[in-house]
Amino acid sequence: MAPPRRTADALDRPKLLAARYKAAEARPYLASALYALTVVASEQVRTMAVDRYWRCYVAPSFVAETGVEELAGVWIHEAAHLLRDHHGRAGRLPAADQRDRLRVNIAQDCEINDDLLADGLRLPEGRVEPSLFGLDEGGLFEEYLPGVPAGPRHHVDCGSGAHGVPAPWDLGESGGEGVARLGPVEAEALRRQTAQAIRAHRRSRGTVPAGWRRWADEVLEPTVDWRKALTGAVREAAAWAGGAVDYTYRRPSRRTPALGGRVVLPSLRRPLPRVAIVVDTSGSMGEEELAAALGEVSGVLREVGVGGNRVAVLACDADVHAVARVTGVEQVELAGGGGTDMTVGIRAALAAPDRPNIVVVLTDGYTPWPPEPVSCRLIAALIGSGAPQPPSWVETVRVAPAH
Ligand SMILES: [Zn+2]
Repeated sequence: MAPPRRTADALDRPKLLAARYKAAEARPYLASALYALTVVASEQVRTMAVDRYWRCYVAPSFVAETGVEELAGVWIHEAAHLLRDHHGRAGRLPAADQRDRLRVNIAQDCEINDDLLADGLRLPEGRVEPSLFGLDEGGLFEEYLPGVPAGPRHHVDCGSGAHGVPAPWDLGESGGEGVARLGPVEAEALRRQTAQAIRAHRRSRGTVPAGWRRWADEVLEPTVDWRKALTGAVREAAAWAGGAVDYTYRRPSRRTPALGGRVVLPSLRRPLPRVAIVVDTSGSMGEEELAAALGEVSGVLREVGVGGNRVAVLACDADVHAVARVTGVEQVELAGGGGTDMTVGIRAALAAPDRPNIVVVLTDGYTPWPPEPVSCRLIAALIGSGAPQPPSWVETVRVAPAH
C-alpha cells in the first residue's frame, strides 16, 4: 500500500525541527535563542516570520519546497530579528519611516543577511542583501533604510517581531491560547545570555562572524549615545506636545545653505514640551556624578531649545525635598539621603499644575518604579554601570561617565 500522501497544508515538523537542530549545531552560541522560538503553522505567511513574543510563524508550503540547509539559514535569520531587537528599534524610527514597514523590513534583512552569507550560511532564493541596493556590507538597518528605494519590488514580511506592524495572522499579545510566548524581560535575558555565549565561544577559540561579535559587544557593553537618545525623545515629545502626530524632524538638507550662518530648526516653530527632572538624591548616589549627570541632561535640553521656566527639577529620595525651576544646574541643591523611591518624585512631577510632557529620572536604578505606564513620556537616565533595568515600558538611557 502506498504511504498516505501528505496534504498540502500539513506542516512537515520533522524537517523544520531538523533544520533548527542543524542551525543550533552549526552555531552553538545561537542554540538558546533558536530553541526559545515557538512554532506556529500558518498558510497565511509566505515563508517564515516572527512576532515580538518569540513565536515563529511558518508556512507549511515553504517548508515543503525549501531544503533543510536553507531552512537552517532562515531559522537563524528569524532569531536574528529578535536578538537584534528589530521591533524595538523600529519603534524608535521617525513616524513616517515606521509606517513604511516594507522598506524597514528590507533594511533589516540587509542587516542580517550580509552577516549570514559572509558566515557561509545558505539562504533561499529571493533574499535581499545590501549589494542589491548598492549599499556596503556590515551596516545597521537604520543606516540602510535611506538607501532602500521607495516602492521596492521585494515582498518580504518577517512579521511584527521585525518591523513592528502586526499582520492579520499575528497572534498578538493575548492571542494563541496555549501557545508559549516570551515576555520582554525574558527576551532581554535571552539576548544577554546569547551575547555571553558568543564571548565564551570566542574564548574557546571558536570563530564568530564580525556582525555577531559587534552585536554581542554592544549588548554587554552598550555604547549608546545617550545624549542622542535623550535629544530624540525630547524632540518627539515636543512634536507630540504640539499635536503634530505626523511631524518628522529633518536634518537641514546639506544642499540648503544655512541662512546667514544660522540653521533654522523646525522645533523652534513648535510648542515646546515641559520637562521635569526627578533627581535621585538618596544616599546611594554620589553627589559628584549626580551633578555631572544633571549638567549633561540640562545641556541636552538646552540644545533642543527647552530651558528656563520649562524645566522643573525635583530632588527626591523616598520623599520630595525641593522643587525648583532652574536656569542653571548650579542652582539645584542636592539635598536628601533617605530611602529611595522615585515613584514619589514622578507622582509629584505629574501633580504639578503645569504638567510636564516628559519626566526624566536621574537615578542609579535602585528604586521602585510606578506599577504601570504613566501618562507622560518617562525616561530613566541610569547612572553607573551596574544600574538594574527598569520595567520595559520605561524608556531607558544609560548615562556613561564622562571620559
Ligand atoms: Zn527577515
